[in-house]
Amino acid sequence: VQAVFRSNLSHLLDLMGSGKESLIFMKKRTKRLTAQWVLAAQRLAQKLGATWRDQKQILVHIGFLTEESGDVFSPRVLKGGPLGEMVQWADILAALYVLGHGLRVTVSLKELQSNLGVPPGRGSCPLTIPLPFDLIYTDYHGLQQMKQHMGLSFKKYRCRIRVIDTFGTEPAYNHEEYATLHGYRTNWGYWNLNPKQFMTMFPHTPDNSFMGFVSEELNETEKQLIKGGKASNMAVVYGKEASIWKLQGKEKFLGILNKYMEIHGTVYYESQRPPEVPAFVKNHGLLPQPEFQQLLRKAKLFIGFGFPYEGPAPLEAIANGCIFLQSRFSPPHSSLNHEFFRGKPTSREVFSQHPYAENFIGKPHVWTVDYNNSEEFEAAIKAIMTTQVDPYLPYEYTCEGMLERIHAYIQHQDFCTAPGPAPQGAHAPQSPFVLAPNATHLEWAQNASLTPGAWPPVNSLRAWLAVPGRACTDTCLDHGLICEPSFFPFLNSQDAFLKLQVPCDSTESEMNHLYPAFAQPGQECYLQKEPLLFSCAGSNTKYRRLCPCRDFRKGQVALCQGCL
Ligand code: UDP
Repeated sequence: VQAVFRSNLSHLLDLMGSGKESLIFMKKRTKRLTAQWVLAAQRLAQKLGATWRDQKQILVHIGFLTEESGDVFSPRVLKGGPLGEMVQWADILAALYVLGHGLRVTVSLKELQSNLGVPPGRGSCPLTIPLPFDLIYTDYHGLQQMKQHMGLSFKKYRCRIRVIDTFGTEPAYNHEEYATLHGYRTNWGYWNLNPKQFMTMFPHTPDNSFMGFVSEELNETEKQLIKGGKASNMAVVYGKEASIWKLQGKEKFLGILNKYMEIHGTVYYESQRPPEVPAFVKNHGLLPQPEFQQLLRKAKLFIGFGFPYEGPAPLEAIANGCIFLQSRFSPPHSSLNHEFFRGKPTSREVFSQHPYAENFIGKPHVWTVDYNNSEEFEAAIKAIMTTQVDPYLPYEYTCEGMLERIHAYIQHQDFCTAPGPAPQGAHAPQSPFVLAPNATHLEWAQNASLTPGAWPPVNSLRAWLAVPGRACTDTCLDHGLICEPSFFPFLNSQDAFLKLQVPCDSTESEMNHLYPAFAQPGQECYLQKEPLLFSCAGSNTKYRRLCPCRDFRKGQVALCQGCL
């Protein structure tokens, strides 16, 4: 069946159920954004023209909202607790619905069981009836629940699951045996999924799929209006919970900021002013989302104190014409040195509060400075007050961008069909790639045949040999490209090293998430034995990694030029 774009979201609001504070928040958001979604769908429909889109039957099981997993978020919606996850789930539901797919939403174990066809009262029967869904979107909590209650069919159908996973899961942590042997075991588990089945909130490592969320987009009139109405001396602090004001040394930089600007906060409080928030700060208390947006429209500066990490609010601020000022982390925060990241299945090093804002947006919208350096901080404040910026929203965070991306994933990502055999080393009948004319990297040979339906299309492959100690994520970015893990199989051969003129004395095949790689001292080349361990993330000074990179669309890093 062909999927048809939908322009009326009222049925979706019914599907979302009711009762919980979190669902009320999500539904309000969906209602408010309806016009934007509908407009975006019209634009995407025009762009795609006559492209066929399969209609899928989709189950969305939001595990963290179930009582069975403790639902710690719902009671905190009105108290300054994290809202980023709810923003994202609301947007995922809206996108799937607007794209025209068949949708079921569950937020309790009972609903999950009845949708999976598990008879009530039967904890985990070996369910073997056919699964009525082509795709299941869930989170780590939901994954656990499905494993417990789907019995045997969990194994059979796990390739249909997508896990919404804010911070991402790197391949080394996902592979059970490897994680266990090499100290990558975490509380989040080692599910042996295809790493692309994990979907993140920001484009972290391309080992996972980037899901994202949306921010409201302004039209030209609104943009002009906002630019005219800015109070150049008004700052809003990022953070709804009083605890973020406990930061050490904050007196110093808050004092400096207060010399130049009027400081506003939206910190939750019960009856009296939170003692952590200094008296000179105008605290509005936690605001409903539309009122928070209004505050951002007036403000010149949105300032982060270092926590929370990587939420939606800075993107909203920038979209509403604010400049975002944040602290640089030196040394970077990671699971090795920071409580928040400890036990998360990623080795990522975070160099500022909001790496996406720093790396994908940057100046003039985003300023990343050392808050311990008073001169640097003060100079930034002064410069910001006289810097004019236009409201800005990266395409991938618009409704159209999110629809485009999810459309591409749904039509092209397939983790159920076993991949066709990749060309294997010396035995490949015809090597698919050649050394580029400047002898720096490998390119897909013009006359090599393409596997029909392979996605992303392999002719966007550019393979680079990393310098020692550099990860493939960074190596590709160094060349204006993005790492594409699905291309690893094409490089995992002696032939690839040969073509790159790497002098291998010997070649071995082992399980290691850094392979394929070249180890300089022994002139040894290593191939990857376990496809699940192909990883863009990860580095070691011992190795020069062989990295599969590809191009990407401007403002849509998840998709290559030929990906739609
Ligand atoms: N927000 C809100 N009221 C406020 C401050 C923020 O509704 O007073 C919303 C904001 O619009 C954003 C969401 O809270 O969409 C999550 O923001 P944040 O970046 O703080 O991420 P979190 O840590 O909550 O996941």
